[in-house]
Amino acid sequence: MSFDNKVAIVTGASRGIGRAIAEELARRGAFVVAAARGANAKAVADEIAASGGKAEMASADMTDAASLEALIHRTIERHGKIDVLVSNAGITRDQLMLRMKRADWDDVIATNLTAAFTLCQAALKPMIRARGGRIVAVSSVVGQIGNAGQANYAASKAGLIGFCKSLAREVASRHVTVNVVAPGLIDTDMTRALTSDAQKDWTSQIPLGRLGSPADVAAAVCFLASDEASYITGQVLGVNGGMYM
Ligand code: NAD
Repeated sequence: MSFDNKVAIVTGASRGIGRAIAEELARRGAFVVAAARGANAKAVADEIAASGGKAEMASADMTDAASLEALIHRTIERHGKIDVLVSNAGITRDQLMLRMKRADWDDVIATNLTAAFTLCQAALKPMIRARGGRIVAVSSVVGQIGNAGQANYAASKAGLIGFCKSLAREVASRHVTVNVVAPGLIDTDMTRALTSDAQKDWTSQIPLGRLGSPADVAAAVCFLASDEASYITGQVLGVNGGMYM
């Protein structure tokens, strides 16, 4: 899978899964626009460049529609096209329903779901003009099976799946594919925040018996973003060690 001469935007690229996706796309030849808040993605872009890849950092806040539109417009101005959009940034604000604050709901929906709407809407026009494109959204196994204490997160991640399937149907005739990668439990800062009991409990539910790595997810995202995946759209690819089949 080569991404030579492709321009790819990855959100939440400063660390974890987003960082691994940015590095893998760059390793395969893409020019990567590594987006994160402020200058958080600078180190990633610098490291990619230092190892011979092509990348630049971009500042974008998922809760600020204007900054997301600016990210898309700036990328078009600078590079003339967007071949791949990876909507990866996401947050958790876990709480049981009876204690969940309205702000916990709003923040998670805005960051995990509404940002994808804004990004896709802005990126679609240039993709359609270019007669093709790849959109990959990072959802979660929790959006497929639910999880106590994560009603907000599960709703956002299930929402992404419905959103992507609908968009896939709308834009298939324009050769734009829209797919979802749904990771299970992946070893990142997000899961390191879990208690060790919760980690053990989750791991006991994974047939492959281990947490996934950011690289496991990056490989799946790269496949769906590649030319080789041109006949695949509206799909949800689980990267979950068999946790959900
Ligand atoms: P992480 O917390 O390590 O990284 C999240 C990234 O999103 C960071 O770069 C962060 O800066 C960015 N981000 C968060 N809010 C933002 C905002 N308002 N504006 C801009 N950037 C923002 O998490 P991760 O584990 O790498 O998760 C990446 C994606 O994968 C998320 O969408 C997450 O829901 C999903 N996911 C993770 C796991 C897991 O086990 N780690 C499992 C399933 C799905």
